[in-house]
Amino acid sequence: MNATHHEILIVGAGLSGLSAAAYVSKAGRSVLVLEKTDSCGGLLNSFTRDGYVFDAGARSIENSGIIRPMLKDLGIEMELLDSRVSIGVESKIVDMESKESIERYKEVLETLYPDSMSDIRRIFHVIDKVYKEMDVIYGFENPVFKNFKQDKRYLFKELLPWMGRFLLAVWRMERMQEPVETYVARLSSNRALNDIIDQHFFKRTPAFFALGYFYVYLDYLYPKGGTGKFPEQLAKKVLEQGGKIQTDTQVTAVQPAKKLVYDSKGNTYTYDKLLWCADVKAFYRSLDTTNLDTESIASITNQSKKIFASRGGDSVFSLFLGVEAPIQAFADITNGHLFYTPSRQGLGETHLSELKSLLGKKNEIQKEELFAWVTKYCTLTTYEISIPSLRDASLSPEGKTGLVVSFLLEYDLVKLGEELGWYDQFRLHVEHTMIDVLNRSLFKGLLEKIELQFSSSPLSIERRYSSSEGGITGWTFERPSPAISKLMKIASAIKTPVFDVYQCGQWAYSPAGIPTAILTGWYAADAICSGPQTKDRKLKS
Ligand SMILES: Cc1cc2nc3c(=O)[nH]c(=O)nc-3n(C[C@H](O)[C@H](O)[C@H](O)COP(=O)(O)OP(=O)(O)OC[C@H]3O[C@@H](n4cnc5c(N)ncnc54)[C@H](O)[C@@H]3O)c2cc1C
Repeated sequence: MNATHHEILIVGAGLSGLSAAAYVSKAGRSVLVLEKTDSCGGLLNSFTRDGYVFDAGARSIENSGIIRPMLKDLGIEMELLDSRVSIGVESKIVDMESKESIERYKEVLETLYPDSMSDIRRIFHVIDKVYKEMDVIYGFENPVFKNFKQDKRYLFKELLPWMGRFLLAVWRMERMQEPVETYVARLSSNRALNDIIDQHFFKRTPAFFALGYFYVYLDYLYPKGGTGKFPEQLAKKVLEQGGKIQTDTQVTAVQPAKKLVYDSKGNTYTYDKLLWCADVKAFYRSLDTTNLDTESIASITNQSKKIFASRGGDSVFSLFLGVEAPIQAFADITNGHLFYTPSRQGLGETHLSELKSLLGKKNEIQKEELFAWVTKYCTLTTYEISIPSLRDASLSPEGKTGLVVSFLLEYDLVKLGEELGWYDQFRLHVEHTMIDVLNRSLFKGLLEKIELQFSSSPLSIERRYSSSEGGITGWTFERPSPAISKLMKIASAIKTPVFDVYQCGQWAYSPAGIPTAILTGWYAADAICSGPQTKDRKLKS
């Protein structure tokens, strides 16, 4: 069988794989990216339906001192529009225009929870402190994208003075790893208030990461044409630099002893270095350890135990709507990216003990019970609402508006619904309840104006991108992470126990997301490129 040989083989054309491919091809290395689906971008992508452009993944992209400098470093020109966020509870919506807007959101909470003024003051005092640390970490252009060895002025006048403040901010960040729920509960005894803060985030998100979002809200950008333009431009750059990308190719087996990779169609590829930028459980499942030495096998076994003991983090249910109403009808209510909670009551135990007890019933669960839980959850949870055409008017047909409405939804629940044969009904029930809640609260009259409606669930994400448990940002915070989770150690997140195999992306570093997918991609490319170069050739295997 003929195997094509590539110096560097990358599995997965999500943001991490594309970032790595952009940097290895920039360094003149030969690279082939293999991607399971028919397009690039993975969890960050946009698509068009009936003239509406929808973002299927992240609704905006946080600059985080990474996006703009990386684009500049790679010579990619892409128009990045401002992406203003709003945050709201019930009828009170605050547009996050500047740091002062955080104060206005605080005032909203004071109106909603007048008996908890001092608790709110304590919480926002911490948010203010975290904001300042975030400004140090995210507000400076990440030095990996700067050629600081040749720019002495930058090195001495900017980078070195920043380094001290950065190390201090990271040290403080490491001290706030406690889950946001327990952290906030120490500042306030009002469960509903605490929920309104916590339920914006994944369960047990580290407090620093969660409370730091008040900085992130002001740091979002929106690529003109949709978030999918970002991976599209990265892929274009890879091709321009001589790299290759092969879609519709799912890698199913890796034989490190032969440096050989198989895809689902039986094609084989050999490599000098392999970079895995997809689900890490899939990597360990596909690994054939034949002919590896006992020491390697022991380290692989040890790491794979940790990997399989954990699981993908929170997932989302997304509802896509085409609405026969002009953009202005929505602009009067919110910015183009909104975090909205329809009730001040808070989720309480709905998504915790109540959900656990529901899931514990397994096959004994009644359909009515499951659907009643969903109705309650839809009424109390926090929604992320994105209106692409409020960022870029060309993304909806004239006089109409596209909406992407989503919330976190437990993978296990959807899976159970599917196993019991209720999946389609379940999805429709969630869709209708979401619309009903919004129709009664924020977007009155929405229901009659919907001309297009469909959804994606945690199962859709798992199936399309092979993302364990539909995880949208890598590992859960509810179990010990098998990945590196200290910022100062991010460079070593790319290591695997397998010789000449590296990893990057949302399963390599936690907490994950767009910035760390890119950053780990850069570190992997850097590590790979520091090795000796070889030529492509055809091999008989
Ligand atoms: C709805 C949503 C909202 C989000 N919001 C934010 C946000 O606000 N901020 C933020 O920072 N992050 C956000 N994220 C998360 C962020 O988008 C991801 O963490 C990031 O894009 C992950 O990139 P990745 O390259 O690590 O993985 P992926 O995007 O999962 O890429 C992996 C690629 O590998 C492919 N693949 C899988 N298995 C194989 C195989 N066997 N062979 C070949 N190819 C394979 C997949 O198809 C995929 O294209 C969000 C995600 C979603 C879905």
